[in-house]
Amino acid sequence: MTTGYTKAVLALGSNLGERNDTLSEAVADLVDPPEVRLLAVSPVVQTKAVGGPAGQPDFLNMVMTVETTLSPAKLLQHCQSVENKHHRVREVRWGPRTLDVDIITYGDFTSDDPVLTLPHPRAAERAFVLYPWSLIEPAATLNGERISALAARAPDFDDLAPFDGFGDFDGVPTAGAVE
Ligand code: ADP
Ligand code: MG
Repeated sequence: MTTGYTKAVLALGSNLGERNDTLSEAVADLVDPPEVRLLAVSPVVQTKAVGGPAGQPDFLNMVMTVETTLSPAKLLQHCQSVENKHHRVREVRWGPRTLDVDIITYGDFTSDDPVLTLPHPRAAERAFVLYPWSLIEPAATLNGERISALAARAPDFDDLAPFDGFGDFDGVPTAGAVE
């Protein structure tokens, strides 16, 4: 890593509108400023919505790694400005949204602040974050455990499917890094 840059893991999700187009544009928007450089982009996975109102469309989720000179707070602001650009709907907690961007980790930085909790407090139990992350960083750990092992134990693991470009793919995650 270049001096002055910190590696951050970002998780993106969309379950409203042209979900794949939104994710594609969001990746480009997130790495648009010179302070943010792209390291890796995961495959897109399709996930049942966890929590929130019943009957919402499936989520498309993916993880990207970046290196950045932005502070954690500035990176959060940047992520939120990208969410806002995509007209994110915020009325219902855990309801449908055009775009959700969460910071999963920022280097080794830890924070209990509810405005920016790091590592993200729910990442360790979300296969839709852990599994795509494990595909681009197989050796990564969270709370001292391999993320692929955490993914396999996560309650939503069986709800994941590879994104087939259309929607109703009736499959299971490819083997990848999950043992
Ligand atoms: P969620 O992502 O949990 O579904 P929201 O996207 O609506 O919910 O986020 C609610 C708030 O969570 C944001 O306003 C933000 O300040 C806060 N937050 C705390 N930690 C993080 C984090 N690691 N990444 C993104 N947002 C966070
Ligand atoms: Mg969020």
